[in-house]
Amino acid sequence: MVIYNTLTRVKENFEPINTPFVGLYVCGPTVYSDVHLGNCRTFISFDLIYRYLSHLGFKVRYVRNITDAGHLEGDRDEGDDKFAKKARLEQLEPMEIVQKYTLGFHDVMRLFNTLPPSIEPTATGHISEQIEMIRQIIKNGYAYEVDGTVYFDVEKYNQEYNYTILTNRQLADLLENTRALGGQNEKHGRLDFALWIKAKPEHLMHWPSPWGTGFPGWHIECSAMSSKYLGEQFDIHGGGMDLAATHHTNEIAQSQACNHTSPVKYWMHTNMLTVNGTRMSKSKGNGFLPLELFSGNHPLLNHGYSPMAVRFFMLQAHYRSTLDFTNDALQASEKGYRRLMASLLLLEKVKPSDRNSDFNLDEFSQRCYAAMNDDFNSPVLLAELFEASRFINSAYDGKADINLHDLEILKKLLHSFVFDVLGLKEENSQTEDTEKLMELIIRLRTEAKADKNYATSDSIRIALKEIGIQLNDSKENTSWSKS
Ligand code: AMP
Ligand code: ZN
Repeated sequence: MVIYNTLTRVKENFEPINTPFVGLYVCGPTVYSDVHLGNCRTFISFDLIYRYLSHLGFKVRYVRNITDAGHLEGDRDEGDDKFAKKARLEQLEPMEIVQKYTLGFHDVMRLFNTLPPSIEPTATGHISEQIEMIRQIIKNGYAYEVDGTVYFDVEKYNQEYNYTILTNRQLADLLENTRALGGQNEKHGRLDFALWIKAKPEHLMHWPSPWGTGFPGWHIECSAMSSKYLGEQFDIHGGGMDLAATHHTNEIAQSQACNHTSPVKYWMHTNMLTVNGTRMSKSKGNGFLPLELFSGNHPLLNHGYSPMAVRFFMLQAHYRSTLDFTNDALQASEKGYRRLMASLLLLEKVKPSDRNSDFNLDEFSQRCYAAMNDDFNSPVLLAELFEASRFINSAYDGKADINLHDLEILKKLLHSFVFDVLGLKEENSQTEDTEKLMELIIRLRTEAKADKNYATSDSIRIALKEIGIQLNDSKENTSWSKS
């Protein structure tokens, strides 16, 4: 079995299982609270990967689940059910919590211009698939039931397979460093984890099963849903780095124990978004909410940042590097994003020359693809795009030449990389939009006056006044202000 921790060179080394179809599974959010910017970093990184593979012509089936049940506060079968706890706190039904935060998550993903996945399955919608998988794991001898709870037998599994293959840790060290936790007297081994958990009488979300009323453990949902939609073995599985040691390690063990196949060809893990060097997380309380960032309503922020400036901020770091969240870095990204968008606008105004082009488009294109083929290196791609942006400025100023043919190709290339691959988009602020609209209205009114059509010019002035806008006419021009 071969497991790659990253995809490395996409074009040369990446061999999808069913060429040209690619199965991509990404662990989605646990929808008991708002997603923070750290979560968004992971989803934006996989959006980039999805976009680039699609751009290369692969037919990607992108599955990103919604965890809406079975996630206890601790990762190791301990603590309260996150959904039930939040439902009590907000005095709502657990499924109202799920609905509220799923809708919020979708809104945020749309603002960041991420593409929706091909399938977005929920854990609660796949209880029977999870039960079926657990039955098979028991049948194959890798799980056991104790009083309505089913545990996975890690040491038994490790005799035949390598439980720690994803992280290369030693099982002996793991055993030594593992605290005794919930259900310990029931478990055969310290590392065993729950596949199915017996519901206590007060537990709100529960389902019937061959082992009595209960609910699934967190890890089994991803094994059940990925194999249902992508097959027993698929191409890429992703998520944040924090998931590798437990959630993904257990997913491999479950799928292998059930189907006797290693489930994933390439594992891809995104690195963490940090605040002052500490991982941004819901439990640490240092999580920035996207809406706080957009509005600037946070003590650590100077002002609000637009979704595209934030997306740019994420893209200018490689997905496997940590990224620290600071005002200075965000300000630099805001400038970088605006500079890139301004170049695209300027490109439309560049006049083609009759002379040979001063810009080698073939080499530029190759460098852009080489950057993305090198493990989706978006910062290097951005550096290339800024190289093109410098050329555009020179060409606009008449200091460099580009012929008509090359100009059209450059436009196409930049649009593909900036909009389709990086997923950036034009983002006019409302003030900019208003300025442009007012410019247009004033021009139409000036033309009406020039035609001696005073009825129209007066009715424009009166209509604007009614919505609180005052026109100020002088000899040379007309300006406007809010009255
Ligand atoms: P959760 O909703 O907590 O299950 O997390 C959803 C996704 O966000 C998972 O793939 C996590 O690994 C990822 N994630 C959590 N915290 C961070 C962070 N600070 N930076 C990047 N990704 C994160
Ligand atoms: Zn998962």
